[in-house]
Order: sequence, then structure tokens, then C-alpha cells
Amino acid sequence: MRVGIGYDVHRLIENRKLILGGVEIPYHLGLLGHSDADVLTHAICDAILGAAALSDIGTHFPDTDPSYVGMDSQVFLRAVAKKVKEQGYTIENVDSTVIAQQPKLAPYIGQMRRVLAKTLDISEAQISVKATTAEGLGIIGKEKAIVAQAIACLAKA
Ligand code: MG
Repeated sequence: MRVGIGYDVHRLIENRKLILGGVEIPYHLGLLGHSDADVLTHAICDAILGAAALSDIGTHFPDTDPSYVGMDSQVFLRAVAKKVKEQGYTIENVDSTVIAQQPKLAPYIGQMRRVLAKTLDISEAQISVKATTAEGLGIIGKEKAIVAQAIACLAKA
């Protein structure tokens, strides 16, 4: 049994889509990034890679590569799942937390879990997504950024 953690932060700005866990969420601000800036999916990628000691998302998919501009981060996550599978691991479970002041994410959690489970080829019971606010404090509370944390557990197949 191996565990890994993941963390990511992206800036919230105007004129960008807000995509979390592969789900587009209607909101007047979105996340800035080289890809679709899906902060939750990036944290999950790093947790899974970390559990297998396979470095991080920035190493595998560098933000200097123009082919990743606007990329759907589910493509990264699918590739990450394939990498760990090739090393003989299966994904036992993933837990995650999105820390965002706004918008309210509760209505989208089920859809995020369905999308992420499909990408990872695991059941919805194996992927948890939680959401919390920053109580108005700091860069998250002032809606300057959204943060995501994740943990993944892998087993040798
Ligand atoms: Mg990122």
C-alpha cells in the first residue's frame, strides 16, 4: 500500500472558464493556467504520481509545452492513471478537498466524482471530493485563488 499527496493553486480571474474535476461550473470568474487550469484534477494527478514516486504533473506535462495550451486536464489524469498502472499499481481510493470561497460547489460534487471516476476507470465509491471555504480569509477568501488538496492510495496489483 502506498499513499501520495497532491496540492495545487490557481489564480481566479475574469474571462476564463471555471473547470473543477472536469466539470464546467457557471461562474463569472475562472482559473488562470496553461491548460484548462483544473486545480482539483491537477492535485489528484500529483497525489497519484506521488504515491508511485513518479514525480509530478509539471514534470510529465510541462507548462512550457505549447501543445498543452487549454488542454482538458482529464487527458493528464488519464495518462497519470496509465503510468501508475504500467508500474503495476491499482488505485484503491482518492480523497480530495477544494478550498474555494465562491461559488458553492455542493451541487457539482456528484458530477465531478462521476467524471473523475470515469477518467481513472474506478468506481465512484473510490473517489471522494469535498469542498470548503476559507471563511473569507486570505487569497482564497478574497476570491483571488482556488486551492485543491488530494491524497491517493495505491496497491500493487
Ligand atoms: Mg495546476
